[in-house]
Parts: sequence; structure tokens; C-alpha cells
Amino acid sequence: MKPKSNIIHLPVYQPGKSIEEVKREYGLQEIIKLASNENPFGCSSSVKAALMAEWEHTSLYPDGASVELAQALAEHLAVSPDQLIFGAGSDEVVLMIARAFLVAGDETVMAERTFPQYKHNAEIEGAVCVEVPLKDGVHDLDAMLAKVNDRTKIVWICNPNNPTGTYVSESDLRRFMEQIPDHVLVVLDEAYYEYVTAQDFPDSIQLLKQYKNVVILRTFSKIYGLASLRIGYGIGNKEIIHTINQVREPFNTTRYAQSAALAALQDQQFITLCQKKNAEGIAYLTKEFEKMGLNYFPTQGNFIMVHVHRPAELVFQHLLKQGIIVRSGHASSIGFPQSLRITVGSRGQNEKLVTALSKALEEIAVTV
Ligand SMILES: *Cc1c(COP(=O)(O)O)cnc(C)c1O
Repeated sequence: MKPKSNIIHLPVYQPGKSIEEVKREYGLQEIIKLASNENPFGCSSSVKAALMAEWEHTSLYPDGASVELAQALAEHLAVSPDQLIFGAGSDEVVLMIARAFLVAGDETVMAERTFPQYKHNAEIEGAVCVEVPLKDGVHDLDAMLAKVNDRTKIVWICNPNNPTGTYVSESDLRRFMEQIPDHVLVVLDEAYYEYVTAQDFPDSIQLLKQYKNVVILRTFSKIYGLASLRIGYGIGNKEIIHTINQVREPFNTTRYAQSAALAALQDQQFITLCQKKNAEGIAYLTKEFEKMGLNYFPTQGNFIMVHVHRPAELVFQHLLKQGIIVRSGHASSIGFPQSLRITVGSRGQNEKLVTALSKALEEIAVTV
């Protein structure tokens, strides 16, 4: 047997340690997981009833096109239902875009460092990934534009960017869009859109009216708190959505996911509450980081990349022993060996993180 030559080098995805694993390994009772940008407040309480009601239909295939959810979401976003495509997480929408648009030898441009799934899926299709270093933690749109040529098919912009939390402004994005050739698809991954507070963050849905070559990705995994159910979506012009639909598996999202997403969408009060708590969490954590003499990237998401001036792996391990799981920047996919990416938790979780981090920093020497 011979797998595709372009996948031989790909690593199998290494998730962060699970809560159960850490409990077992360190003999701890309570674990705080601030590693995967999950919602510390769970999800809307109305999701439970939706899931229970769906139980009765477990033996039936889902509606492949998610018509009911598409209708409600279209109304919420002020777009038309045929401008939406759903995936098993927005991860799957990334996969479908790569599958629909990339063939061997195509080029695709992305930031270095950003969400690893763009590169992963592009490489599976045999495309050449052109990675453009971030500038002060932010996408360098001019440098990315300079890498676009006749072979370029897709440019990926993660906004706010994971892992840095930084963002590209409306004016910078518009200037970029004015110069990007029509044959290049621009993917705006807005997984953290609902957390954004910056006034000059792009109104990306407005961009769709002017540009045919844009797809926006959003998800129910983050602020909506449905990560386990795997449902995310793409928003675009209906021609592009049709193209992506052509490669979609017939039943790619489950009944449970669709029903839960619909219930979650209808509870915007919960979303407002999470936005408020996240903003308070960012204010608290950044103030505490400053007291500890740590700098960090300003964030628009529900996570903060903080620079610990020590090998991230050591600080990560120290926190782990104290029962707190964060994401170490030393992981090859993250690429910030002296930084941690920490999800903003509940007030109590944030306080415990601060106490544990101070202790870790006291015990681990600064490296220059
Ligand atoms: C979490 C995340 C996603 C995907 O989440 P799904 O659970 O697959 O919807 C996509 N992009 C970024 C930048 C993320 O951080």
C-alpha cells in the first residue's frame, strides 16, 4: 500500500491533555482546563431540552442541508440561507474548502503562526503553503499580498488570530481586498467573532456584497459552547457556497448538533452574558500579568497569549502539576516557545490560574 506522497510527513493531531488524563497522572481531584478555548460557562440551558427532544429521532438521518438551522441563522446574520454551509465544526468547512479548490501544485498563502488546519488540509490536497510571518503578532497583509501570484488559489486570514488573539482592522482588510486578484479566494476565519469588542473590527458580511471571492467561517464551538457536537459554518456568496456544497458529505452534521445550534442561537442573552464575562476576564488577567511583569498580545478572543520569558514547556508542566491545563507555545504547531496560550476562564478559574502562574514563575528561572 502506498499513501499519497504529500501526506507521509503529516503528524497525527496531538490534542492537549484531557482532564481525565491529568487527574490520573498527577493524582489530582480538580482540574481546570484553559487549553482549548472552550466556553467556561458551558452552553445555553435551552440546549439540553433540544438534545433530549432529538433523542426520539436518533434512528433517522439528519437533514443534510440543515434547512431549519440555515433559515434561522440566515435571519440572524441578515444573509440568505443559500449563503450558508454547515460543517462538523468549522474545521470541516476548512477541509471542504481545501478539497473544493486546491489541487497539487496550487499555492495557498497563510500566516505563520496561525490556526494549523489551513496548512494541514492544503497539504493533503498537495498544495504548496506559503507562510508569511506575523508582524508583532498580527497578520502582515502587505507581505501576504506580495506572495500572491497566478498560482495562488486561497489566502487564509484568521481574525482574530489563533494563537495570538490579534486582529486585522476593517480598513486594513479593505485595502487588502482592493488589491487581491479576483481569482484568489479569501477565507476569513472568524471563530471568535462573537467575543470581539474592537470598534474597527471588519464587518465581514458587508464585504460579501462587494466581493465574490470571500468566505467567512464561524462556529458554534466557541462562545455558543457546543464544541462536543461539532458544528460550524461558512458564509459566502451563493456560487461559492454551492461549490463547497458539491464536496460536502451528505450527512455531515448530526441532528443533535443542528437542534442544539438552533436552540443556542435563539438564546442571545447567554451570548451577551459570556461576552461580558470574557471582557471582565481579559481585564483581570491582563492586569495580573502586568503585575507579574509579563507582556502579552492584546486579544480579541477568549484566550490570551502571554509571554513568560522562560521555556514555555517548563511553565506548562508546573501548571499541570497544579491542576491547570493551558496550551504551551512550544508545541510545533504554535511556535511561540516562551509563551502560553491561556483560555479566559470563569472568575474563579482565572484567580486560580494567576496564583498558580505566580508560583511557577517564582520557581522557574528567567531565560534571556
Ligand atoms: C476553534 C477554532 C476553529 C474550529 O472550531 P470547530 O470546533 O471546528 O468549529 C476554527 N478556527 C479557529 C481559528 C479556531 O480557533
